[in-house]
Amino acid sequence: MRIVLLGPPGAGKGTQAVLLAQTYGIQHISTGDILRETVKHGTDLGRQAESYMTKGELVPDALVIGIVAERLADQDCANGFVLDGFPRTEAQARALDAVLKERGGKLDAVINFGLDDAEIVRRLSRRRVCEGCGAVYSAPADLATSGDACGRCGRTLITRADDEPEAIRRRLCVYRAETEPLIAYYCRSGILTHVGGVGSVDEVFCSVRAKLAEM
Ligand code: AMP
Repeated sequence: MRIVLLGPPGAGKGTQAVLLAQTYGIQHISTGDILRETVKHGTDLGRQAESYMTKGELVPDALVIGIVAERLADQDCANGFVLDGFPRTEAQARALDAVLKERGGKLDAVINFGLDDAEIVRRLSRRRVCEGCGAVYSAPADLATSGDACGRCGRTLITRADDEPEAIRRRLCVYRAETEPLIAYYCRSGILTHVGGVGSVDEVFCSVRAKLAEM
């Protein structure tokens, strides 16, 4: 199964992608996670990407498309994948179609998670991530017992630079201008389905599975 997750930042794509990967035995590919790793390792690519990421801007298409094309060529993706945070522009969507076509494949489903702006801002401004293992928490509820240490590995929880208020506003603008038009793009190909992003993780995942079963 080859799946793309669409939706604004904070809609829960990452959380749902993990569950989809576990349930269907497919690879979870998050361009945000891959880029954050390159930044951590201080590679050339990481240095280029960091300046865009901290401001809430998109990393240039050519860089991201290259990363994804390379990752999809890995043997472990032969069984399928769930793309989380890619594509984010029409150029990326076209490039993805081309890469898959070259290998005789195509996407099976695109799931669009809907969430209104007020809820997006509320979620992102509360999000804390572990600087060690990347686990994601929502303050204050998830931190009631563990304080600012990760419940999994004990490292410190931080606010991502792009979850600061100004970067959140910028990411939302970029989403509306560059990524939201992909809803129409995938609607034309008949593989798009919508899922409301409000509700518990389990409730949303139930809707995701139901929608996939209908396709
Ligand atoms: P995410 O973790 O998906 O919210 O991504 C964090 C940041 O990484 C984004 O705000 C962008 O700066 C960058 N990024 C992730 N995926 C892409 C993409 N497909 N195209 C361009 N930039 C991306």
